[in-house]
Amino acid sequence: MIELSDIGEAQIIEGLPASPGIVIGKAFILDTERPHVEEEPIPPEDIEEEIGCFISAVEDTKNELVRLRSSLEEELGETHAMIFDPHLMILEDSMVIDGTVRRIKENGINAAFALTENIGIVTKAMSRTQDEYLRERVYDIKDIERRLLMRLLGRKAKSLRHLEDNVIVIAQVLAPTHTASMHRERVMGFGTEVGGRTSHAAIMARSLEIPAVVGLRDATDIIRQGETIILDGTVGLLVHRYDNAILDYYLDRKRKLEEFERELLTFKDYPAVTKDGRKFELGANIELPDEVNSALSHGAEGIGLFRTEYLFIAEDELPTEEEQYDAYRAAVEAMAPSYVVIRTLDVGGDKFGPQGPAERESNPFLGWRGIRYSLSNPDVFLKQLKAILRASSHGNVRIMFPMISSLQEVRDAKQVLAAARQELRMEGLAFDEDVPVGIMVETPAAAAIADVLAEEVDFFSIGSNDLVQYTLAVDRGNDRVAYLYDQYHPAVLKLIDATVRAAKRHKKWVGICGEMAGDPLSVLILIGLGLNELSTSPLMLPEVKSIIRATSYNYARKVAQRAMSKRTGPEVRRYLETIFRKRFPEISETEMIT
Ligand code: PEP
Ligand code: MG
Repeated sequence: MIELSDIGEAQIIEGLPASPGIVIGKAFILDTERPHVEEEPIPPEDIEEEIGCFISAVEDTKNELVRLRSSLEEELGETHAMIFDPHLMILEDSMVIDGTVRRIKENGINAAFALTENIGIVTKAMSRTQDEYLRERVYDIKDIERRLLMRLLGRKAKSLRHLEDNVIVIAQVLAPTHTASMHRERVMGFGTEVGGRTSHAAIMARSLEIPAVVGLRDATDIIRQGETIILDGTVGLLVHRYDNAILDYYLDRKRKLEEFERELLTFKDYPAVTKDGRKFELGANIELPDEVNSALSHGAEGIGLFRTEYLFIAEDELPTEEEQYDAYRAAVEAMAPSYVVIRTLDVGGDKFGPQGPAERESNPFLGWRGIRYSLSNPDVFLKQLKAILRASSHGNVRIMFPMISSLQEVRDAKQVLAAARQELRMEGLAFDEDVPVGIMVETPAAAAIADVLAEEVDFFSIGSNDLVQYTLAVDRGNDRVAYLYDQYHPAVLKLIDATVRAAKRHKKWVGICGEMAGDPLSVLILIGLGLNELSTSPLMLPEVKSIIRATSYNYARKVAQRAMSKRTGPEVRRYLETIFRKRFPEISETEMIT
């Protein structure tokens, strides 16, 4: 990768790329800190009035959120609007509300102080957990606390609603309450300190098609309000205090990137076919049904991965069969007659909703995750399968099971699927009897027994994100071992190759839906190994297609074989970079390859 220090002077904060693109503009530091409050005694005769003030602050905040919710629903649909429900529930929660009222009364103190004390206790235990779902809820509670305090103190919160300039929003965390009310035309990008690729800010940025970088440690302390910054969502950097050489470099890169993207989009309706006539399918990965718009506008031929976790994680209650059916049906109808691979719930690891285990597991990625969770909760699983099957009568659905590590799991999952079909028949509800059933190959075990599994299913989709993590024993979310997370590692390439070969032997369709599918350097290897489909974020599809169209299958096969003969990941990467510099100079530039 290009070192910016070779170009000029700049301060850099490294984060994780969450939504691609480059923006240069003024930073808007969203103050997500709560105001400081002091304890003040309240005389007994004024206690009722103090409680009254608190209750009206709660009511006003509730009304404000209900308004926000319905305007979001109108604009982006129910699935986006649902993210407000936890906030509204917090405003009804007795620990939060009654607990504060009790404190005002019993301690004879001001409402603002009673609230912060009470919230401090409620969130203390929650903050210590590693559980991403509970931690996200802490942000929601703190967001509500801040809103209530602003009202109690008669202050106006800085919001994203009335932005006068175009800005890049930098925040510790971006809550749905911020993004829902923001002045969209003015927001050029997001940078957040907290959150991964599947955090709310990241998902929102991808649906709005604006650049985003997450995991920018201490950015709100380091960056000054109004400072001009560069946010590079393609590589995952925030650049500031830069000299003219860096600015010129970025202006030039941004111009080329945008020009290149425009050019690529003109090929959106062309097939992903190599020069020697081999056709590949390009799918899009989505988290929410309305992302199909972005998938279609970027030339996706299908949805290679519909992650259904968001439907479950955004809510405090599990979604009903009907709610799920509506969401799946929306995506399926919008894509019809093209395929939609709906993956059953893959909670666990770093993604847990209300269904999480009561106690923290010491190895969550090796624990109660994916199909393991579904099989031990047959009611939840059955309901989801019924909803997916019902959606299948509106288009072209494929069902996929995540985190498979044994044949027994596939058989057990198919049994629940058979029960779901049976119930629908008895209820007289329509579904497609021939829905293909597949699995994610994302554990080394599944790759190693791919031949056996291929006999049991209709298709495979390789989950490289997890396959890399499990093959190399590297936690995909742990900064300390991130340098070992290497998708070019020969062990990973060998398992992908073995999986594709097994699928071919059994004449089964095989795709890949991990981030590797959207990594330009990996594309030649993946098509050279003979995958049928590459599925990735919609925004990456035009670039992937341009690589496929500019190469021959014969050449890609040679590249894949050469890459497989290398001994280390860095050797593979260097080899691919050399090819890219020669054959794809525009892409080398956008990806900052020297
Ligand atoms: C993967 O593991 O590659 C994958 C696509 O699934 P997820 O990232 O949702 O675990
Ligand atoms: Mg996975």
